[in-house]
Amino acid sequence: MSMKIQFLGAARQVTGSCHFLQAGGLRILVDCGLFQERSHRSRNWDPFPIDPASIDYLLLTHAHLDHCGRIPKLVREGLRCPILTTSPSQALVEIILEDAGEIQEEDARYKRKRHRKEGRTPPRPVEPLYTSKDVKAVLPLIRAVAYGEPVALNEEVSVIYREAGHILGSAMLEVRVIDNVASDPPVGRPRERTVVFSGDIGQWDQPIIHDPTLIEKADYVVMESTYGNRNHPDNAGVPEQLEKVINAAVEAGGNIVIPTFAVERAQDLLYHLGQLTREKRIPPLLIFLDSPMAVDVTEVFREHGSSMDEDAQAVIDSGGKLFKWPGVQLVRPTSESKAINRIKGSCIILAGSGMCTAGRIKHHLINNISRPQSTILFVGYQPPGTLGHEIVKGSKSVRIHGKSRQVRARIEQISGCSAHADQDDLLRWIAGFKSPIRRVFLVHGEEKAALELSQRIGDNHGYPVEVPEYQSSWTLD
Ligand code: ZN
Repeated sequence: MSMKIQFLGAARQVTGSCHFLQAGGLRILVDCGLFQERSHRSRNWDPFPIDPASIDYLLLTHAHLDHCGRIPKLVREGLRCPILTTSPSQALVEIILEDAGEIQEEDARYKRKRHRKEGRTPPRPVEPLYTSKDVKAVLPLIRAVAYGEPVALNEEVSVIYREAGHILGSAMLEVRVIDNVASDPPVGRPRERTVVFSGDIGQWDQPIIHDPTLIEKADYVVMESTYGNRNHPDNAGVPEQLEKVINAAVEAGGNIVIPTFAVERAQDLLYHLGQLTREKRIPPLLIFLDSPMAVDVTEVFREHGSSMDEDAQAVIDSGGKLFKWPGVQLVRPTSESKAINRIKGSCIILAGSGMCTAGRIKHHLINNISRPQSTILFVGYQPPGTLGHEIVKGSKSVRIHGKSRQVRARIEQISGCSAHADQDDLLRWIAGFKSPIRRVFLVHGEEKAALELSQRIGDNHGYPVEVPEYQSSWTLD
């Protein structure tokens, strides 16, 4: 029996990952993420192209919102099947979707208020995409699976979750399909075919998490291509860059404010800061992780120590603390967050959001951005249109909470923190397959990035490579 695949997101774009595989009599969704690009956000509201109640399994590669963020909507519309993911992802998805449910409700409230102010009556009442209640209905459907162990979905189809090295709990999927096992006597010879979904592929040698798995055999590969046309800058290592910026900031006598994402980035930074402190490469400083969500995520990391790589295990085994030592304060209540402003001398403040678009980071920027002795340190890409971008590009003043603020603090940026494989890493991963692949589908990349990677893979290996359009489908024989 032939298999079919349809691309329901992350097709010639980076977000909205969702692939629909029909194989061995099963209807399987791989991921169901939120469309986050402004230009494609309306797709979140479109009716789902297939009946959610007809889906047999949802296989989830990892907990990022662009991979899991549409699931509550699907559950509201009738999805009742098991959602399979790793145990750390299960814990992270709960935190991330609960936050997303609150944001959706808040967005709807804000829109209604704006309409009232403008005296507009929209054709339909403004409703959230989904609510916290819808998120609660998702959680009982999630089942944790172990890395490396085949899970039978039926007699013909099984899946193995492999380390993807992207964030804690992230996985690549090997879906194996055996034809003819159900017929008695068997019609022809049983035939096995493997479809590999890369999920998001991490960089090699990142802190805390394992390296991406090199898979040796696949008939079809669905692969991400975020950095398909570029490499990360070849700078000094992240710890060396951090050491330099922090020591200079301490010398200047000011705070170091670091806008950071709650998942993986915040924990990676704590890990590096812990190492630098233990090795006395930076003085012992007060470090605040000022984000209730990042604190919750850090707890998940602490509970899943066994999912971490050998270096992190070694720190734990030697009695070192990865995320919490006497200088570190994990901050939840707003009152404690406000108290940070009263600290004298240098301290390090990690707060969200990573692009300064919302959250507590704005308050810390207000308190530090006009002080010449303070440092604002960026550790990730700041896309145009964000406050982070305004600051990084060297604006002399920026608007925060409706008021113009002079930028007098030192603005620093370090590289190498990306959770994504770059072009060289992606080529390294695809070169890991030992036998020819019948067809590669590139997803999760801007068109330019995906097309360039497709050219490179075609040149290097001679495999047929497709960059599918949104909702296009293919028969896999
Ligand atoms: Zn991701």
